[in-house]
Amino acid sequence: MENFSYQNPTKLIFGEGQLEALKKEVPQYGTKVLLVYGGGSIKRNGLYAQVQSILSELGADVTELGGVEPNPRLTSVQKGIRLSQENGVQFILAVGGGSVLDCAKAIAAGVKYEGDVWDIITSKVTATEALPIGSVLTLAATGSEMNNNSVITNWETNEKYGWSSPATYPQFSILDPVYTYTVPRDQTVYGMVDIMSHVFEQYFHHVPNTLLQDRYCESLLKTVIETAPKLINDLENYDHRATILYAGTMALNKTLGMGTRGEWSTHEIEHAVSAVYDIPHGGGLAILFPNWMKHVMNENIERFKQFAVRVFDIAAEGKTDRDIALEGIEALRQFWNSIGAPSRLADYGIGEDKLEVMADKAMTRGSLGNFKKLSKEDVVEIYRTSL
Ligand code: NAP
Ligand code: FE
Repeated sequence: MENFSYQNPTKLIFGEGQLEALKKEVPQYGTKVLLVYGGGSIKRNGLYAQVQSILSELGADVTELGGVEPNPRLTSVQKGIRLSQENGVQFILAVGGGSVLDCAKAIAAGVKYEGDVWDIITSKVTATEALPIGSVLTLAATGSEMNNNSVITNWETNEKYGWSSPATYPQFSILDPVYTYTVPRDQTVYGMVDIMSHVFEQYFHHVPNTLLQDRYCESLLKTVIETAPKLINDLENYDHRATILYAGTMALNKTLGMGTRGEWSTHEIEHAVSAVYDIPHGGGLAILFPNWMKHVMNENIERFKQFAVRVFDIAAEGKTDRDIALEGIEALRQFWNSIGAPSRLADYGIGEDKLEVMADKAMTRGSLGNFKKLSKEDVVEIYRTSL
């Protein structure tokens, strides 16, 4: 295990009825609030009305930024910064999925930065200050509710980048599984694929003696594998929604990566696809991850063997390590197929024509990969095997 330091300031407020906690939390940060939300799901399920009623009870002066897109766009961030400056906003409340939270983080940092917020998103500068943010999460997937990451797309240049800053952890996040009941089946599946992918990015590394980290990762994966088939057939089941919501937070609040040196290359490779084709992040990951695994597994076949045996209970006796590893990857593909995740780029109508363009975008910020260093040719090959 490597040396590490860890600090996470986000207060997590979990469970049915916890929206009430807004009454105690929001006043700590001011009365001028920017309420950020997406395309309307919170209006349809009643959450918007409940939040507005609490804010009005608190006497908050609310400015709204609705319509934040899935794969949130730079234009929404710029609009949010403008609205915050015009209205002297003191606190940002994000109510929605990862896209809404990520957009809120970029607004929060952008308001405090004199230059162009794109400098922050491209990691040309690291934001040191941000407005305080709180969130009410409505979709289990990204972990954005308890981390400092944000992913923003510039739709004019087809670039999508993840960035982070010590100043962009939410102050608090409210997670009530009941508000995730209305997440449609396909988005529920994408969310679970994203959660598992976050674990993979932290599980496949070469750092020795990470026994506890490995078991944490494997237990999270097994929990999602056990719960997913039940949840997709019973979308309003509190216990299954709660399990997945909690799993999503734990998968990317960076505890799993303590003392290790993981990957994020499949995320970069996926971001390039959604930057060009605007597909759901989890859908892209489901297509790409098993192919990244096959491409890199020879770098540390032991690790892939461990994954196969411990996570998918593949029998090892009488088989080569390579065969065991491949069976594990195939079991992952079968599992994702079984819950209705896509498996080919063709499922989104994506063909051969932009593989090079996407690979260039995936490589924009320099070399890719810790488990195996990837060249542009490697990335094109992973896309090609995903067609
Ligand atoms: P999302 O893009 O926030 O939401 C996807 C869709 O689900 C939207 O159409 C949204 O509708 C709908 N939705 C959300 N909550 C709902 C509910 N309770 N009921 C019904 N519909 C609901 O999905 P996400 O997977 O959470 O976020 C994806 C983004 O996060 C991508 O850009 C990805 O790259 C990024 N990401 C970030 C991190 C991180 O650490 N920050 C990690 C991985 C990925 P409305 O718009 O109408 O609300
Ligand atoms: Fe992700």
